[in-house]
Amino acid sequence: MVRRRIFVKNDFRWIHEEPLAIGSGRCILPIMQLKPITEPLLRWYRLNARELPWRKNISPYRTWVSEIMLQQTRVDTVIPYYERFLSELPTLEALASVPEERLLKLWEGLGYYSRARNLQKAARAVVEKHGGVFPAEYPDILALPGIGEYTAGAIASIAFGKPVPAVDGNVLRVICRLTGSRRDLADPKTKAEIRGALQDIYPAEHCGDFTQSLMELGATVCLPNGAPRCGGCPLAEFCTARKDGTTGEIPVKAPKKGRKIELKTVLLLFCGDQVAVRRRAGQGLLAGLWEFPMLDGHPGRAEILEYLRQSGIAVNELSESVTAKHIFSHLEWHMNGWRAECASTDGPAELIWTTRQRLKQEITLPTAFKAFSKQT
Ligand code: SF4
Repeated sequence: MVRRRIFVKNDFRWIHEEPLAIGSGRCILPIMQLKPITEPLLRWYRLNARELPWRKNISPYRTWVSEIMLQQTRVDTVIPYYERFLSELPTLEALASVPEERLLKLWEGLGYYSRARNLQKAARAVVEKHGGVFPAEYPDILALPGIGEYTAGAIASIAFGKPVPAVDGNVLRVICRLTGSRRDLADPKTKAEIRGALQDIYPAEHCGDFTQSLMELGATVCLPNGAPRCGGCPLAEFCTARKDGTTGEIPVKAPKKGRKIELKTVLLLFCGDQVAVRRRAGQGLLAGLWEFPMLDGHPGRAEILEYLRQSGIAVNELSESVTAKHIFSHLEWHMNGWRAECASTDGPAELIWTTRQRLKQEITLPTAFKAFSKQT
């Protein structure tokens, strides 16, 4: 039997289970086979780690902001956003008190604005419940808004030196290849097993470096899509997929269901130097963010003119503008743009007319509207 520690309902528990078979497609390697990776991986990391701004002056706040920004966003994209964010909001208290509109402006271009809002909610929770001191224990970190197991593990290990794994897509790929596991990456049990296995090999004195070394190996050497750089890998001698020639087949990911496609029509309404925007509903996709007025579907010119007439918007001229596609995780918007020169700023109360300058400097439009913002 193998004894290992897992995290269940806010606490760690020891469990006993049968050793796991190699490459069976059912389970992960026994812990003993992962243990030898720690030393060579840490040595490699110290020599090869990229210099990234969040790796300097490590603090829970800096680690947390970087991890939230890095979700679904590339490192190169994040760096300037991170530096600007930290320079304007250098402390948790500053984040807790910044007006939401300014926060969203700092986030503009990163997308997934709920991440920014949750950052602020969590900062306020730390101020209210923890006296402004970021909690050091994993369950307390996990309880903060917008922080899941991965981010909580990253903060606990990197900023507080705790032996808590942070298992993201990079780490899953590395461990599945090392162990030859053909478990489905999308299956939550796979992640739970890998967390459990890593938990037991965390080097007590170097938890932060170990977390970052696994992430770094996945990001720079054990690359996705069947093209790992095994020749430069410090773990090559331990790697089952490399030995078996199966790096192109592992990791295994069940195909995703196709995304739903929604047709949208974006209306760019101008009146002199003014342009119309409105707030989205407080719930659901892009909740509470600004948008250009939109219609469902792809109506033709006559239908759009009729809609504008019924809305009390007097139009001098209507012309086709750009088209664009925006991909959300579960949904695609296929958007046709129309530009209308209006005779006045009359129209529904939900429309807010603003100057082009204010639109650029103060109003945050989601990335979905980027192609249309450029037309203003
Ligand atoms: S040897 Fe190759 S497949 Fe195995 S962990 Fe290293 S880079 Fe990944």
